[in-house]
Amino acid sequence: MKKTMPVDGKFELMTLPYAPEALEPVISANTLGFHHGKHLLTYVNNLNAALPGSGLEDKALEEVVLNAQGGMLNNAGQILNHNLYFGQFRAPIADNAPTGRLAEAIEAAFGSFEAFKESFAKAGATLFGSGWAWLSADDEGKLVITQEPNAANPIQRGLRPLMTMDVWEHAYYLDYQNRRPDHLAALWQIIDWDVVAARYEE
Ligand code: MN
Repeated sequence: MKKTMPVDGKFELMTLPYAPEALEPVISANTLGFHHGKHLLTYVNNLNAALPGSGLEDKALEEVVLNAQGGMLNNAGQILNHNLYFGQFRAPIADNAPTGRLAEAIEAAFGSFEAFKESFAKAGATLFGSGWAWLSADDEGKLVITQEPNAANPIQRGLRPLMTMDVWEHAYYLDYQNRRPDHLAALWQIIDWDVVAARYEE
């Protein structure tokens, strides 16, 4: 996967590849403003404050996730997770679905796109507490769904992360309150499968 490098010893808040209201009504501009502009910014600021003297200055974000511990690992993991999350969306479209080799890999691994969505939604809905549901590829390109608690990322298991749903309450509470499954069901409309396919082909 592409590496994220610090600039002058600091990681930057990723720029959203769409307007704040572009994902409505699935994710409101209000939620996006807090989630990207407050929550993610805090993780970035916390990691940048912890970098000097850590021995991990000038390392890629992915290397920090694989080598840091404690609070530093949590903040680095959350930055990597959110960069992949916010980078995978587009404006809502009906009947949104992957195509090409990625679609074939999903069918091979899960039977059908519908069966994949069902398994993925279950992984997100049943993850206790805060964390992330992921679609990843293993060394041989086989696709797997995992649940990762808190700030964990599939690269810590040797997997290549392709697509994710954030099930921390801050991702949906303003728009959906406690209805996590409704939020996850709506997210299928805004997944940019071209981005996910590009990650798969890397
Ligand atoms: Mn989040």
